[in-house]
Amino acid sequence: TISCAAHKCNVLVNDPTVMTLIVDPKVKMKYQHLITNSFVECNRLMRWCPAPNCSYAAKAQYFDCQPVKCICGHVFCFGCGELWHDPVRCKWLKKWIKKCDDDSETSNWIAANTKECPKCHVTIEKNGGCNHMICKNQACRSEFCWVCLGPWEPHGSSWYNCNRFNEDDSKKARDAQEKSRHALQRYLHYYNRYMNHHQSLRMEQKLTASIRDKMEEMQQHNMSWIEVQFLRKAVEVLCQCRQTLMYTYAFAFYLRKNNHSIIFEDNQADLEISVEKLSGYLERDITSDNAAITKQEVQDKYRYCEQRRKVLLDHVHEGYDKDYWEYQDDL
Ligand SMILES: [Zn+2]
Ligand SMILES: [Zn+2]
Ligand SMILES: [Zn+2]
Ligand SMILES: [Zn+2]
Ligand SMILES: [Zn+2]
Repeated sequence: TISCAAHKCNVLVNDPTVMTLIVDPKVKMKYQHLITNSFVECNRLMRWCPAPNCSYAAKAQYFDCQPVKCICGHVFCFGCGELWHDPVRCKWLKKWIKKCDDDSETSNWIAANTKECPKCHVTIEKNGGCNHMICKNQACRSEFCWVCLGPWEPHGSSWYNCNRFNEDDSKKARDAQEKSRHALQRYLHYYNRYMNHHQSLRMEQKLTASIRDKMEEMQQHNMSWIEVQFLRKAVEVLCQCRQTLMYTYAFAFYLRKNNHSIIFEDNQADLEISVEKLSGYLERDITSDNAAITKQEVQDKYRYCEQRRKVLLDHVHEGYDKDYWEYQDDL
C-alpha cells in the first residue's frame, strides 16, 4: 500500500492496483523490491543479513541479543546485526565500536604527550625529563617551562618557583594529564588485543587455504581423506576461539574489578595461551615422521581450546544470571 504522490492527496492505493498501474517492468521490479524492504524493516522479527553481497533476511523467534544463521552461512547477532559477539552484550559492544572508531582517542594521546608553544602555537612533544623547552620552530625558538608554560628565563632565579606560582592551577593540570595518560594506556591495552584477534580473523581465508594444502600433503603421507579432516575442525575451533577472545576484550574494558572479573581474566588468559599454541601447531611443517604425532597434538589442543572456551562463556553467562558483573559506565 502506498499513498498517492500528488500534493495533499491522502488516497491510499493498494498493491495490486499499483501493479496494474505500473507499465514499465523495471519500475514493477523496483516497487516489489521496495515492498519487501519495508516488510523486513517494519517486522521486528526479521533482519537483513549484514554479510556483503547477501540478499537474504533472517527470522527470529523473539527480538533479543541472540545468534541467527543466514542461509548464506553468516552467523550474526539478531539484536544488533554485528558478527555474533558472545560474551559481550549488544549495548557494550556498540559503545566499544563507537569508541574504537572515534579518533578522539588519538587526540587524547596528543593531549597527554604534547603541548603548544605559548608563543607560536607549534605542537611540541616532550622527549626527556627536562622541563626546559625550546620551541622547535626555527623562527620562534622561544624558551618556556613544560609545566606552567611560562617563560623559562625566570625559572633559573631563586625568587621564581613555577610550582608555587599558581600552585593550584599547575597541580590541576598535572593531575589531569596523569589521569588521561592512564586512561589511554588502559584503553590501548584492550584495543590492541581486540584488534590483534580481529586481524587474525581476517586472515581466516588464507589460513583455510594453507590448511587445505596441508591436508593434501598429509594424504600423501599414507593418511586417508577421513583421517585428515581433523585439520578442518581445528581451523574452525581456532577461528571460533579467536572471535570469542576478540569480544572478551570489549567485555573486559567496561568491567569493574571484583572477584568474578579476576576469574574471568584467568579464563581469558588460559584461552589465549591455548589458542596461540593451537595456532602454532597448525603452522608446523608436516613430514611422514611427525604426521601421526602432529595429528594427536592438534586434536588434543583443539579439544582443550573448545573446553576452555566453554568454561569462559559459561562463567560469563552465569554472571549475567547471578549479577556478578559491575560496569564502568563512564568510559
Ligand atoms: Zn490522488
Ligand atoms: Zn546471508
Ligand atoms: Zn548484538
Ligand atoms: Zn614557538
Ligand atoms: Zn614553570
